[in-house]
Amino acid sequence: MNDSHDIHVGVLAMQGAFARHVAVLQERGVRASEVRTPAELAAVDALVIPGGESTAIRKALDRGELLEPLRERLASGMPAFGTCAGLIVLAHAAEDGAPETYGALDVDVARNGFGRQVHSFEGSVDMSGGDLGDLDGGRLSGVFIRAPRITRLGDDVTVLGRLAGGEHDGEPVVVRQGNLLGATFHPELTDDPALHARFVELVRAALAAPATTSAP
Ligand code: GLN
Repeated sequence: MNDSHDIHVGVLAMQGAFARHVAVLQERGVRASEVRTPAELAAVDALVIPGGESTAIRKALDRGELLEPLRERLASGMPAFGTCAGLIVLAHAAEDGAPETYGALDVDVARNGFGRQVHSFEGSVDMSGGDLGDLDGGRLSGVFIRAPRITRLGDDVTVLGRLAGGEHDGEPVVVRQGNLLGATFHPELTDDPALHARFVELVRAALAAPATTSAP
């Protein structure tokens, strides 16, 4: 029996670099496993939704009969970390031929919002947006692959990271709302596990003192 009360983080394994997310978490000593079925979802404390293609992820959720179970877990405050297409899936609304989104994270996004020509770029992300523990003031390198752009921030959303320098200087690219974390880039593709570490901290805090997602 596990009496450590430690966390079990699932990684939605429909599409995209899910194996890499599992590896990053496991390298940090966190119990992590792939989630493809309602039973696997029910077994985890938190979920990473990787990047890929949001329409494909949405269809796969439907096929896997995960659409409603995931909606219920999100509504009950399960911590989730959406990266790139995963952020689109969590968002309130998405422009540009987007699939229906969960509306869990109160941001709107524009798919491929950095321009269709720009398939990929690496940008420096300024993480001095606060609320980040040991990351405060730090920088991350972000791999943006046909990344969504955040076009609206809800009142309860905190910006944790912004692009630093370049054409899109100051754009919000890492956001948090309660137990939900979102990044428009792929944090699993760089050697820096800082955002995963932050998510793990968030999950531990959420399990220790379950938070509500809505204000009183
Ligand atoms: N452009 C993709 C979409 O709209 C997201 C790309 C990604 O996750 N790297 O779903």
